[in-house]
Amino acid sequence: MLTRKKRRTDVIQGRFSCPHCESEQPCTRFVQLGGNQHEGDFVVCATCGGRQRGEDYRYNAATGIFDPVLWDCPYCKALNPNNTYWCRSCHKSLV
Ligand SMILES: [Zn+2]
Ligand SMILES: [Zn+2]
Repeated sequence: MLTRKKRRTDVIQGRFSCPHCESEQPCTRFVQLGGNQHEGDFVVCATCGGRQRGEDYRYNAATGIFDPVLWDCPYCKALNPNNTYWCRSCHKSLV
C-alpha cells in the first residue's frame, strides 16, 4: 500500500556544461518542493546520468541553458564555479 506523500516537483529540461562529459549535454533539473530538505534540487546529465547540485546552476529561460553559478575571486578577480572553494586561477582558498 502506497502511503507516500505527494510532493510538487518542478522539472525543467535544458542543456548544461557537464563536468563529467566535459562538454555541453542535455540535462533535466528536478526541484522538489514541499520537502524540508534540499535533497530534491539537482541537475541530472542525460548523457552520463551524473548529478550536480541544483544550486550551482541558474536556468536561463532565454537560451534554455543552465549557466553555472560563478563567484569572482577577491584576490585575482578570476571567475570560478560555485562547487569549488579555492580559486582555480591563483589557488587561494575562500574558507
Ligand atoms: Zn554528463
Ligand atoms: Zn584568485
